[in-house]
Amino acid sequence: TFTERYFTMTESDAITYAKSNPSFFSNDAELTCEEIGDGNLNYVFRIVDQISGQSLIFKQAGPVARISDEFKLSPDRNRIEHDILRIQGELVPQFVPEVYHYDPIMNCTVMEDLSDYTILRKAFLSHQTFPNLADHLSSFLVSTLLSTSDLVLGHKEKKEQVKAFINPELCEITEDLVYTEPFYDCPRNEVFEGTLPFVREEIWGDETLALETAKLKFQFLTKAQSLIHGDFHTGSIFVTSTHTKVIDGEFAFYGPAGYDVGNIIANLLFAYVNGEQTIEDPLERNQFTTYILTTIKDIIDLFKEKFIDAFYDQVTERVAEYPGFLEYYLEELIADTAAVAGLELSRRVIGLAPVQDLTDIADPDKRASAEIACLKAAKVFILNRYDFFHGEDFTRVISENT
Ligand code: ADP
Ligand code: MG
Ligand code: MG
Ligand code: MG
Repeated sequence: TFTERYFTMTESDAITYAKSNPSFFSNDAELTCEEIGDGNLNYVFRIVDQISGQSLIFKQAGPVARISDEFKLSPDRNRIEHDILRIQGELVPQFVPEVYHYDPIMNCTVMEDLSDYTILRKAFLSHQTFPNLADHLSSFLVSTLLSTSDLVLGHKEKKEQVKAFINPELCEITEDLVYTEPFYDCPRNEVFEGTLPFVREEIWGDETLALETAKLKFQFLTKAQSLIHGDFHTGSIFVTSTHTKVIDGEFAFYGPAGYDVGNIIANLLFAYVNGEQTIEDPLERNQFTTYILTTIKDIIDLFKEKFIDAFYDQVTERVAEYPGFLEYYLEELIADTAAVAGLELSRRVIGLAPVQDLTDIADPDKRASAEIACLKAAKVFILNRYDFFHGEDFTRVISENT
């Protein structure tokens, strides 16, 4: 049974499981269940009581990745996902689902059902826009990244947190898929035919780029700056016209704060190139791409503005108050952001896990154009990362390379 040993649940197991704990549903509930997971690693069960209409999400970690059983992963990552949801629930309750329960035997977390929301990547594929997105995402990033850093946390407490979020297997996925494989002719890469000549010449053929990615990989391995989400792309964000919720924190660990900021910037850019290549009406196209550029610019500028305010409010580390330190800290963070944007742009074009924003572009010439635009921007983001500070520095690269 569920209390004895771990097994991966079917839909009907999940119903039995839901009934086994009286705190989930009432006794007379009539439960139905659907597995709605679309990710690579886990099973997401939506359980509905047909009588009351009440519903819950059960997310269970599987022992191997769905895309390939080459990836064997400890289901303990579900603990990480649950624990970061609790922390985010304290810091930014408005931006995460409520979490109700964690089961360390079944490696299963029970949380609020957000089925009224849409996954942001899907919404962007139909070219919807969300006016509050930059405001919400910048608030989420500042709260989670600042409050978990040595600027605010006592350093002993922070080290306890670093220990609680040691996440070697999921980090290894990022180390391989983001920081290593895209930058050489690795057999696991999957490059679109029309993009391949550019990749050979301009990515795999560029030794300077290789060296910079090596430096960045060692930064990712060693810079325990903040508790980061670690998988902060548009598939991990749920939206309505007014609300934003962040899910899927299983990659969380103490890493470079710019990793989360750069990741979302790159994924906004995928939506941008998709819009540019697939929206036929020029007015509509311009509206959508302008919205994405404005959102990118605003995320960077609002992030800095809110970070500065929150810093003066919350800082506890004495030396961080020396004149010039905050500027230094933010300059590094924004340089890391630019670099990670470049890495994420590269790996989704070249590596094992592509994004639908690119693969959905049906015309092969248009798809290659979109992918090459991403790679050109990626090189500037990585090689010139110390030239980035304002939102406009990011949007300029996009306008110049797309
Ligand atoms: P994975 O780690 O496998 O990528 P995700 O946490 O991203 O899993 O969830 C996969 C999918 O399951 C999401 O894209 C979404 O459609 C659905 N899902 C996940 N969490 C919820 C939730 N709390 N409410 C409603 N649907 C959810
Ligand atoms: Mg996911
Ligand atoms: Mg998903
Ligand atoms: Mg996930």
